[in-house]
Amino acid sequence: MELHDESAFKTRSYNTAYVNLRRLDQPIADMDETTISALPGVGKAIKDKILELLETGHLSTYQKYAEITPPGIIDMLSIKGLGPKKVKVIWEDMEIETVGELLYACNENRLSQYKGFGLKTQEAIKQKIEYYFQSQGKFRYGTIIEIAEELLADIRHIYTGTPVELTGDIRRKCNTLDKIEILIGDTELAEEIFEQGLLEIINEEEGVVEAKNENGMLVLLYLVDEADFISSWFYTTASEGFRNSIGDLPMGNFEDEAAIFEKIGLPYFVPEMREKGMHNLQVAASDLVEQSDIKGVIHSHTTYSDGINTLAQMATAAKEKGYSYIGITDHSQTAFYANGLKPDRLLQQIDEIDRLNTKMNDFTILKGIESDILGDGRLDYEQSLLDQLDFVIASVHANLNMDEAKATNRIIKAIEHPATSMLGHPTGRLLLSRKGYPLDHKKVIDACAANQVSIEINASPYRLDIDWTWIPYCMEKGVLLSINPDAHSIGGIDDIAYGVASARKGGLTKEACLNTRDVEGFMSLLKRGPV
Ligand SMILES: [Zn+2]
Ligand SMILES: [Zn+2]
Repeated sequence: MELHDESAFKTRSYNTAYVNLRRLDQPIADMDETTISALPGVGKAIKDKILELLETGHLSTYQKYAEITPPGIIDMLSIKGLGPKKVKVIWEDMEIETVGELLYACNENRLSQYKGFGLKTQEAIKQKIEYYFQSQGKFRYGTIIEIAEELLADIRHIYTGTPVELTGDIRRKCNTLDKIEILIGDTELAEEIFEQGLLEIINEEEGVVEAKNENGMLVLLYLVDEADFISSWFYTTASEGFRNSIGDLPMGNFEDEAAIFEKIGLPYFVPEMREKGMHNLQVAASDLVEQSDIKGVIHSHTTYSDGINTLAQMATAAKEKGYSYIGITDHSQTAFYANGLKPDRLLQQIDEIDRLNTKMNDFTILKGIESDILGDGRLDYEQSLLDQLDFVIASVHANLNMDEAKATNRIIKAIEHPATSMLGHPTGRLLLSRKGYPLDHKKVIDACAANQVSIEINASPYRLDIDWTWIPYCMEKGVLLSINPDAHSIGGIDDIAYGVASARKGGLTKEACLNTRDVEGFMSLLKRGPV
């Protein structure tokens, strides 16, 4: 009712009734009408509502409001700490209608621009939403990995001298997962795990213990003979599709997993790649891209648009983290919600980068922009302005509801623009909260190949977009991929690790990854070449 601007008097009467009714120590259903009427805080209107609920099981007043409220807004109201006043601002002023979009907006530092939403509030809301999603049973890898590693360390502590490892989806670094799986080389279940409160047991069967942690996450413990540890690790790590594609799996005592691959006559596949269909990919494990190969931080935002840190801070942090260049790509002018740069401010930023570059040793700041792809596929600035930049990432941020043909054509038009060097987060998906627009991936990748445009693997654990399953096709077509953090803060730069994990799932080689080059190599492979 507060969301829909009902009179304060009316909402207060419901509130008062609620506060009083929740104190009752006997069911209202057992009371007669006269007793209900005499309850503190219950006037005639509320009494009628109570009777309606008791008789029909429904409340038409509630339904009336529910019908005119998007389901995502109702979800938000169930998040602790998000009262109707805040939700109203989120819905009406920020135009956000799902919890997932709200979390992403927190991550992009978008809430703090609104009255009543400081950085602290934004962080608090973000944590509450993370919790909300945790209780929904599915998790992003980035949310769960630290918790899993802590649990692993604690269980190792209990089973000293026994092999204990992560296995299953989390070992394969799946983008999203619904459980933590741990393999223990001991058939005895150590009661300490439960006594110490690490886990709460749900179910115990031969060799498999189903449990949950304090956040309600599902945890599976596999208990095996130490002699079978390696073969069991191999077995439980592989996805079902990978297992099925390689036929009979050898059991028994192996020294390591490499020995198992040798036995089944396959080259060694890193755990990340043990997915359906991936056994056909001819990529040597030693050629796969690694975190330490990444030399440039491409796709980063600053306080010029919606970042938390200044341009100088971002550059210095990237340098301190061991990278040798950073590509600054703030939002373009159409992205008003993200404080996108009007031409004069972009020119001002270009000046500042020129100045900073003269002061930095062994480090380069590249001038870029994350240009919105407008509804018709155009970029967001005049050619003369784009010409002054080192590179351009073209991304879709608005008008997400196109059908596949329209969305594909729009993106291909942007790819064909002479200034476009890279396609940003191709589908716009937000893992576990927004599916992303439908896209003919093959057509888009083919267009990138024809126009020498690279594609980003957006490394934000919320996006991981382009999906890793398209990496083999990109490599086949010679389209280079860039592992980009889309950093909105100094800390965001470290998201590169998630991008690398997803890249390796798809078998991305160091060679096929654009930002493994030094800055000259990076620039020489862009469509526009060095400026
Ligand atoms: Zn973007
Ligand atoms: Zn961005």
